[in-house]
Amino acid sequence: MLYPKVFNPLDLGFITLKNRIIMGSMHTGLEEAKGGFERMAAYYSERAKGEVGLIITGGVAPNRRAWLTPFGAKLTTDAEATKHKVITEAVHKAGGKICLQILHGGRYSFHPFAVAPSAIKSPISKFKPWKLTGSGIWSTIRDFGNTAFLAKQAGYDGVEIMGSEGYLINQFIVPKTNHRNDEWGGTFENRIRFPLEIIKEVKKRAGNEFLIIFRLSMLDLIDEGSTLEEVILLAQQLEKSGVHIINTGIGWHEARIPTIASSVPNGAFTWITQKLKNEIKIPLIATNRINTIDQAEMILQNGEADLISMARPFLADPYIVQKSKNGQANLVNTCIACNQACLDQIFKQQVASCLVNPFACHETEMISTKTNTRKKIAVIGGGPSGMAFSLEAAKRGHEIHVFEKQNILGGQFNLASLIPGKEEFKETTRYFEENLKLYNVRIHLNITFTLEHVKSLGFDEVVVSSGVKPRRIEIEGINHPKVISYPDAIKFPEKIGKNVAIIGAGGIGYDVASTLVHKRELSYYKHWGIDQEYKSRGGIMQSAHNEPNHKVWLLQRKEGKMGETLGKTTGWIHRLNLKKLKVDTIAGVEYQKIDDQGIHIVVNNKPKLLAADTVIICAGQESENELVKDLEKYGIKFYVIGGALKAGEVDAKRAIMEGVELGLKI
Ligand code: NAP
Ligand code: SF4
Repeated sequence: MLYPKVFNPLDLGFITLKNRIIMGSMHTGLEEAKGGFERMAAYYSERAKGEVGLIITGGVAPNRRAWLTPFGAKLTTDAEATKHKVITEAVHKAGGKICLQILHGGRYSFHPFAVAPSAIKSPISKFKPWKLTGSGIWSTIRDFGNTAFLAKQAGYDGVEIMGSEGYLINQFIVPKTNHRNDEWGGTFENRIRFPLEIIKEVKKRAGNEFLIIFRLSMLDLIDEGSTLEEVILLAQQLEKSGVHIINTGIGWHEARIPTIASSVPNGAFTWITQKLKNEIKIPLIATNRINTIDQAEMILQNGEADLISMARPFLADPYIVQKSKNGQANLVNTCIACNQACLDQIFKQQVASCLVNPFACHETEMISTKTNTRKKIAVIGGGPSGMAFSLEAAKRGHEIHVFEKQNILGGQFNLASLIPGKEEFKETTRYFEENLKLYNVRIHLNITFTLEHVKSLGFDEVVVSSGVKPRRIEIEGINHPKVISYPDAIKFPEKIGKNVAIIGAGGIGYDVASTLVHKRELSYYKHWGIDQEYKSRGGIMQSAHNEPNHKVWLLQRKEGKMGETLGKTTGWIHRLNLKKLKVDTIAGVEYQKIDDQGIHIVVNNKPKLLAADTVIICAGQESENELVKDLEKYGIKFYVIGGALKAGEVDAKRAIMEGVELGLKI
């Protein structure tokens, strides 16, 4: 049997999980969207059809003060419980199991009524919380119990109590945020009283045969966080209180250490889960940057955990478990940890989706139907938009031919996968290649498409997805041999001198800069100051960096903050990373000329010479769509998508979305 550990059911007496894979909690924005319950029912039930062992919903507040944002999801009344039934019924009908996560934001709640153990503002919120009174604490505990009771009424199989990531319960547990001197603060026993009383109340209200998972912060990654001994002691107390499963939480949201970004190694935190493994008897879930069933099996085989939680991988592919079980792991659409369409959307208060799978959270709106008119379609360019279009159109029954002038598919993704920390982008190309094969899409590599092909091969329609080319910019000396384009800089690092100026500080400028100063021999843990020996509170230590290979200046013309266009949830990582590696970022630059001496610029009205040996142009792109004029001239029906349509701010999210949308309607 493939993946014997993963597909070994977990029997807890009153409930059996059919396998060891859990879809971890993730807020999607559907919770608050119009028609959200029906949309969530479709979203979760599709994952249940894909045979995941257990689903945990996005966080739901036990009272109004617990709201992360005003009017967020809460479960406090019978009427609200009734609305949830559409979700639980759909999941159960699809053969799945589902738990509701109860989340109290505490001082992370983004509204003026936020409460916390002590009135200490978080660095990532503008609201100072109110200190909970003793009676406020007891009523909050009762609210957790009430929500668990209502979750049971609504048909959920259990609840997950969110005790990590720096939310309210976590704020009670650690000395940093709990400065109380009553029975809820001070000693460790007092600080953990709050979670233990919550479990007691939940059990009282929902009974013994209702699954209780506790998400325990095992590594806070903040100063004055928990010690390892405290984590173990709390886990043992939770076990005694009747918690059935312990889930792993890593890092507070305010920690300045990336824990789920693409630069975090796969399975980077299973070592911490393992430290707890022999200290308790109840099952333990490993989390963070686990995105394949292969890896899940390995973690289980190594005895590092009993279950594996994945959240974003289920946005990327609802069928990851089923495909892997059936020996079709090659067909899985792998999450590349970009955050661009999921967490970045959530931070903008929009419904989440997935860059590589735009259907995610849009299951009721984006529906594929077989075509009645089979067309023969030429697709010019096998980058993200072309591949996405081809797959959807082929699934609907069209005959698709992709023409790619390179010798491989992937387009800009091939460049991206050469950036340290973005290697997994090649998994998206693998996904498309394998699925295009399955749907019989004809791939023509090393071919520059011409009108002759339309005529000789008899295409009905043409889709232009030929992508982008680097923007040519006008600066004196732009043709100097020391000037190179970003694709060349990424593909041929040996062409780059010691001192490097980068023109343009968008996503690609940042990527190129971090590639230049990145040193593989330095571990992720040392670079970000994670103490794997766990000697200090919170598991943090001084970070350490090797001297970079290059001196780098990253330049932009705009005044103000650098890296403004980077993703909401990853921009800070890029900025901090370059700061650690001593990259000079300069805004408000006026470019004068490039010559043998380097690049001459003016900043704050003062001329400056940067003695660069190499100048890399990362100044954005222009559309590559020369064919369009000919297609127009000869009256051939065509569509233009992705970068070929609009190069400004082209990103893979828009490119893939446009490909899928056209594929669904052509
Ligand atoms: P971009 O984000 O548009 O950045 C282009 C940069 O070039 C800007 O900093 C711009 O700043 C500068 N520039 C533009 N025209 C110029 C000119 N004529 N002369 C000199 N400088 C000029 O483009 P990109 O960096 O190529 O990224 C392309 C797309 O890929 C973006 O949508 C981006 O979101 C996406 N991407 C994202 C990431 C990420 O989030 N990590 C990584 C890679 C790519 P000034 O005009 O101020 O000089
Ligand atoms: Fe993963 Fe990116 Fe999709 Fe989010 S948007 S689920 S990080 S691939």
